[in-house]
Amino acid sequence: MELYEYTAHELHDILLRKEASAREIVESVFRRIDEVEPLVRAYITLTREEAFAAAGATDARIARGEEIGPLDGIPIALKDNLSTRGIKTTCASRILENYIPPYSATVVERLMSQGVVMLGKANMDEFAMGSSTENSGFFTTRNPWDLDRVPGGSSGGSAAAVSAGEAVLALGSDTGGSIRQPASFCGVVGLKPTYGCVSRYGLVAFASSLDQIGPITRDVTDCAILMNAIAGYDPRDSTSVNREYPDYTQYLIPDIKGLKIGVPKEYFGEGLAPDVREAIEQAMNRLQDMGAILVDVSLPHSEYALATYYLVATAEASSNLARYDGVRYGLRAKGAPDSVTMAKRTRKEGFGAEVKRRIMLGTYALSSGYYDAYYLKALKVRTLLIQDFERAFEACDVVLSPTSPTVAFRIGEKTKDPLSMYLSDIYTITANLAALPGISFPCGFGQDGLPVGLQLLGKHFDEPTLIRAAYAFETAWGPRSPKPPLQTGGRDRASIPAGSFSDD
Ligand code: GLN
Repeated sequence: MELYEYTAHELHDILLRKEASAREIVESVFRRIDEVEPLVRAYITLTREEAFAAAGATDARIARGEEIGPLDGIPIALKDNLSTRGIKTTCASRILENYIPPYSATVVERLMSQGVVMLGKANMDEFAMGSSTENSGFFTTRNPWDLDRVPGGSSGGSAAAVSAGEAVLALGSDTGGSIRQPASFCGVVGLKPTYGCVSRYGLVAFASSLDQIGPITRDVTDCAILMNAIAGYDPRDSTSVNREYPDYTQYLIPDIKGLKIGVPKEYFGEGLAPDVREAIEQAMNRLQDMGAILVDVSLPHSEYALATYYLVATAEASSNLARYDGVRYGLRAKGAPDSVTMAKRTRKEGFGAEVKRRIMLGTYALSSGYYDAYYLKALKVRTLLIQDFERAFEACDVVLSPTSPTVAFRIGEKTKDPLSMYLSDIYTITANLAALPGISFPCGFGQDGLPVGLQLLGKHFDEPTLIRAAYAFETAWGPRSPKPPLQTGGRDRASIPAGSFSDD
């Protein structure tokens, strides 16, 4: 096995046993990047020099006999909407193509102070608006399981990098599923924390009341380790919650006896692809075999969730993106006779079609005369959705659903019809509207041997239960997802090795 194939916790043990150096680890990952990046295209920027310097610093600490933390020397990919001081942060937008932030996001600082090795900045949908990375202003990332398919989005570069062995860990951001859906499409683990759990300081804003940063990893143990590093109060983010944050690794317990798992009937209706349904139902049986109790719950306002999300998210985006005026950040259109024309031209040239669509939708929903009918109404429905979950959680500990109604779709399949793309977010957006934590982990395979993700949603700040349940499932049914084939046409189910869900 090559070093790039190990998880972070395995690499930590390798470093402790001095079986390899941090430099050898990062060398292995960059060899892998050189080999497969032309196929996958997960990164917008690679930070090779910084990575080798950081790995050297880890090795020096080890040589001096210092204790190293669990993430010291571990290579990570960062979504390109996380500000990195001195390193381009583009949000996959032409408008920020050459933008170099003067400061780093709190999560980035936290990771750096723990010796993490940053590999580069991962591709995404422009300003995190999308579900496939096809809205990137630069290029589309490909799914390592089938290069003709999307990796999901908007954190598609992060998920593809972890899946393809081009990063050991990654950070993504999730406004309406952007960590969980790509994790599901790429066969890896993704966690969207409770709103307020991870600082948003330095995360380029899309929809501020929904955005959260979270881990994308190859297993649940790494997810817990990365959560330990990023969760916590930050006075620089006014929505950061000042409370005790647990050691998430304490909850890596393979026991879910008596855990009450709510199954909302509204999430198993029309639109759910048969292959995904089958994989999820099998996983539900397994959870039951492990001692979990499945209970029927109802989230009666679910049918309004998508409309609510696309009003709230676009309204907030239209306001947040007003700052790109050609004066303060990035691109400035040349040759304009006055500042208003300059701002108009900059925005016209700098934003892609989907971003413009959202700004228009959001501006419309907030405009006088329509505010009450659209934005205010959406806020009221948001409250009803929150109450749906409060009621459901009276009967269960976690709520289960597919992460996405389908496996990864084909590149180009949904680009002509934005609504069909929006529909793929149906199961993930409610967690953001209700500020709840949600995890997606691989639970089986669907059509063409493509990975299927199972989503569990928890009560506010109950990441511990999500981690425990996901860990229990992973331990019982396949601790590591098999390597993606990195070819077109997916994978024949029969070729998936035993121990990876295909054996029953
Ligand atoms: N796909 C959703 C959207 O396009 C979610 C994006 C996200 O979570 N950043 O808005």
